[in-house]
Amino acid sequence: MKPLAQTATNMPGSGIREIVHLAITMPDVIRLEVGEPNFPTPAHIIEAAYQAANNGFTKYGPSAGLHSLRELLAERVSRVNGYPVTAAQVNVSVGGVQGMLAALSALLDPGDEVLIPDPAWPNYEMAIILREAVPVHYPLYIEQGFVPRMEDIEGLITDRTKLIIINSPSNPTGAVFPRETIEALVDLAQRHDLYLMSDEVYDELVFEGEHVSPALYDAERTIGIYAFSKTYAMTGWRVGYVVANEALSQIIMKIQEPMISCVASPVQKAAEAALTGPQDCIREMRDSYRERRDAVVELLKKEAYYVYTPRGAFYIMVDVSDAGVDSRQFALNLLETCRVAVAPGTAFGNLGDHFVRISLATEKGLLLEGVRRLCEFVRSSQAKR
Ligand code: PLP
Repeated sequence: MKPLAQTATNMPGSGIREIVHLAITMPDVIRLEVGEPNFPTPAHIIEAAYQAANNGFTKYGPSAGLHSLRELLAERVSRVNGYPVTAAQVNVSVGGVQGMLAALSALLDPGDEVLIPDPAWPNYEMAIILREAVPVHYPLYIEQGFVPRMEDIEGLITDRTKLIIINSPSNPTGAVFPRETIEALVDLAQRHDLYLMSDEVYDELVFEGEHVSPALYDAERTIGIYAFSKTYAMTGWRVGYVVANEALSQIIMKIQEPMISCVASPVQKAAEAALTGPQDCIREMRDSYRERRDAVVELLKKEAYYVYTPRGAFYIMVDVSDAGVDSRQFALNLLETCRVAVAPGTAFGNLGDHFVRISLATEKGLLLEGVRRLCEFVRSSQAKR
């Protein structure tokens, strides 16, 4: 047989999924490795999908999404993110994951370079490689609160650089970039004529500070990636959207046809209900994540493993370098010995190596028990060295 595609074969797998696949085969594991709200999808959203299917929303829809949903999304971005958007600039996607892939497909030719954060959500690197483009990592240092420094990014720009990806609030760090940083990033993109992809799937999960969209300053060159997964506890529904200038949105719409044809029609109706229904669930979930964040920070301080406080999203990175093994090995050992699953920092890049990522989207009692076991395990590993 002829060989399989080299690009796909060589694409790295997700280091988070490795732990997930092991954790699900073991009994009584405290699962802190996945970024998934532990809340159920609000009942009125589920009901809307059911009603939609009953009312005939069971057919193919337009590739860019139902017009009624795109209108609501344009209104939502204008209201929440603060920059004016028309329905023509919105493409509904299968979660933020596929929206990002479609946007990258519309932007990148083989060999183009894309600046991505280190540490970062692993899907950027995977999607860029799949598009035969080149990921180039810019560092996010804990000493700077995981906020990028312009000089670190600027030094990496070449003639082939086409795009910078930013993610605030961030997975895995929980950093929320200050307005000055966003302004400086836009300025950098303008000076070097680069596109700016802003992954804003955690835009409504900010505990301190404010969420600032770069599109406020330059909507023409910004591509916004958004999702329902985290905001409305809708991870399994697979619905998100991409906002871009009209020319780029037209290409994304064309790409949606061979990629997905369209997003499931009842799911789009559920998304409409999420936007038009009561919004209290967002605040309630955010308040829970904040409370858990505070409890974990307090516990880490007590255990002497505290290093920083995340300001948004629902993750915290914990420094496990005292254990004396790389973070992947640490995560495997912790799972085997203590039945606690965490995401190894190596899954997010080289600078993640001292850390493991804990998801705060877990029930508080389990979360604290998991963190307690983790601290104890670092201590005992250190004592054995
Ligand atoms: N962007 C970031 C930073 C994420 O953490 C995730 C999910 O974990 C996504 C995008 C995509 O989410 P979804 O495809 O579920 O909408």
